[in-house]
Amino acid sequence: MDDLQYGTRNKRGDWAPNEPAGTAPLFVFPPRPLAVLKWLPHYFLPYNLLFALTAVVWWRYVLPDVETMKTLSVGWILRLFIVNCAALLVFFGAFELRLYILKAQGNRFKYNGKWPSEQKNKAFFFENQNIDNMLRTFGTGMPIWTAIEVAILYAYANGYVPWLTLLGHPVYLFLLALVVPVIHETHFFLLHRAIHWGPLYRWVHSVHHNSVNPSPWSSLSMHPVEQLGYLGVAFWHLIIPSNPLLALYQLHYAGFGAIPGHVGFDKVELTEDSAVESHAYIHYLHHKYFEVNYGDGLIPFDRWFGTFHDGSKEAAARMDARYEKKKARATPPRDDGLTRQPCGAGHPSA
Ligand SMILES: [Zn+2]
Ligand SMILES: [Zn+2]
Repeated sequence: MDDLQYGTRNKRGDWAPNEPAGTAPLFVFPPRPLAVLKWLPHYFLPYNLLFALTAVVWWRYVLPDVETMKTLSVGWILRLFIVNCAALLVFFGAFELRLYILKAQGNRFKYNGKWPSEQKNKAFFFENQNIDNMLRTFGTGMPIWTAIEVAILYAYANGYVPWLTLLGHPVYLFLLALVVPVIHETHFFLLHRAIHWGPLYRWVHSVHHNSVNPSPWSSLSMHPVEQLGYLGVAFWHLIIPSNPLLALYQLHYAGFGAIPGHVGFDKVELTEDSAVESHAYIHYLHHKYFEVNYGDGLIPFDRWFGTFHDGSKEAAARMDARYEKKKARATPPRDDGLTRQPCGAGHPSA
């Protein structure tokens, strides 16, 4: 495909789409029912449906029966951990292999002109982004992912939380399944906004931002505290009345679903003239500029809080103005000798 029909490439080789990034037509006033109808298939396809299906597959083929899950034993937990790792390796690895190792579509639709493998950086283990990202993903990410999963299943199996059955509450659980992405977006936005606060950023979130030019393995490459907070979105299903299958869906939505924002390409080509949208641009801009796009755009949080960046020149100007204002606030006013002192200050009374 000719990516220059859809965007432009600058001197550095960075490609940007012509169309500015948009947020979903939900939660807007006045409501836009036609736009919602047009957008609706994207809500399910391809990712949401895929992650919901994987939850069913795990429930049916990977997890043991409820009786076994009442006890924490190495057997089923280790098996679950291995399957989780293998699935992530295959899913993220497929994008990595096709786009970054085989370079099947060259740099067509690639936001950043450079390849992570070409850039050494001391911030990474072994100065290599890929090795660092994989070590963090499998070293801490997958154990935390599995631990969250086990805690939730153990709580349900032992009856510590209400377990609504699909037969008993079909309508409620169907509606809850529909809002899984909404729960994710809200949780992610609040957590993400919080860890951009100075001290937390330096301690926790800077690890994820070491990947300025993200690639598939950057998706879950985070400090363990962030991995726990991010994947811990599934714990909401211990607080709201739910079903373990939906908790699994919520977890898979966060875990497997971290990849779309980090693919690094705007479109993934399938054949010579067809491609799927990656929906990566909003989060790519976050990795590029840091202080924009804390959410993924399902709910227009960033529009509401004035931090949305759609890739346009106008958005860049707004971001610069915000940055200047912030800098001015952080710098104390200069004492130029003209500032009037309060009466008597500095003058010992006679
Ligand atoms: Zn990211
Ligand atoms: Zn961030």
